Amino acid sequence: EDFNEEIDKSNFVTRPPVVTIMGHVDHGKTSLLDKIRSAKVAKGEAGGITQHISAYTVEQNGKKITFVDTPGHAAFSEMRSRGASVTDIIIIVVAADDGVKPQTEEVIAHAKASGCPIIVAMNKMDKETANPDMVKSQMAEKEMLPIDWGGDIEFIGVSAHTGDGIDDLLENILIQAEMLELQADPSSKAKATVVEATLEKGRGPVATVIVQSGTLRVGDNIVSDTTYGRVKAITNDMGQPVKELGLSETGNVLGLNDIPTSGSVMVVQDSEKEARDIATTRAEHARAKELSKSTK
Ligand code: GDP
Repeated sequence: EDFNEEIDKSNFVTRPPVVTIMGHVDHGKTSLLDKIRSAKVAKGEAGGITQHISAYTVEQNGKKITFVDTPGHAAFSEMRSRGASVTDIIIIVVAADDGVKPQTEEVIAHAKASGCPIIVAMNKMDKETANPDMVKSQMAEKEMLPIDWGGDIEFIGVSAHTGDGIDDLLENILIQAEMLELQADPSSKAKATVVEATLEKGRGPVATVIVQSGTLRVGDNIVSDTTYGRVKAITNDMGQPVKELGLSETGNVLGLNDIPTSGSVMVVQDSEKEARDIATTRAEHARAKELSKSTK
């Protein structure tokens, strides 16, 4: 779309960055995501965030950052196979007491291929055995040269246990985001990426989405993959009902007729009929493709 010269950019505004944390198992990805969320949510609301969720938005110095927990999930490989990604910035977490591991190397390869800016979070700095110099030299060997060693990658020491370094990390994310000049049109028909979708008892299909452009509203006619419907309700990342989701914001959307594929893009249509027609046509195409595969 960025190649389309006819796109009207007059309504564009800066949108918050969407950030993914990746790393070797047990290096603290989940702990870090949970700590950032609990550290940044207003005190009164903190009671409602005991459970780990797949995407949330926090504020740092009045600026928003959305974190998404998808690597390893189906959504991530699906998005990659479509050449699309919801992520603007990638955090590679490396346990400072453990260093670069096989999965760290995979993550480096993926992050480089994505073309996204990378920040290295050296986690578990609270441990006696933490050795940030070891992490830096191992990463430097993988052509991930720290800024303080003459390279261009920011390495930040953090602890998901104590919260040390988290402000530093968030501020660096905002600096990277500013350089990316992320922009989108909040007044256009919404486009959102489905990060995760499940069937919930009494609620029907629930899709966790991140808005890429436009504003998604209750009442919108939507199509996502081969599913369609009208947005019945939206809950934000605190589980509270909201009327809309803005740029780079995340929430749960109710109202689809079925469970959309993770990684698919939800798009708003003018009418319910249009949404249904697109979904039905796609479903027919998919069936025809399956059929031709099985008869080959
Ligand atoms: P993930 O597999 O990357 O998501 O890692 P987890 O978040 O599940 O963490 C793995 C283990 O490391 C858990 O036992 C955590 O309590 C521990 N851990 C995570 N972050 C820290 C940290 O900053 N300091 C210390 N001491 N332990 C940590």
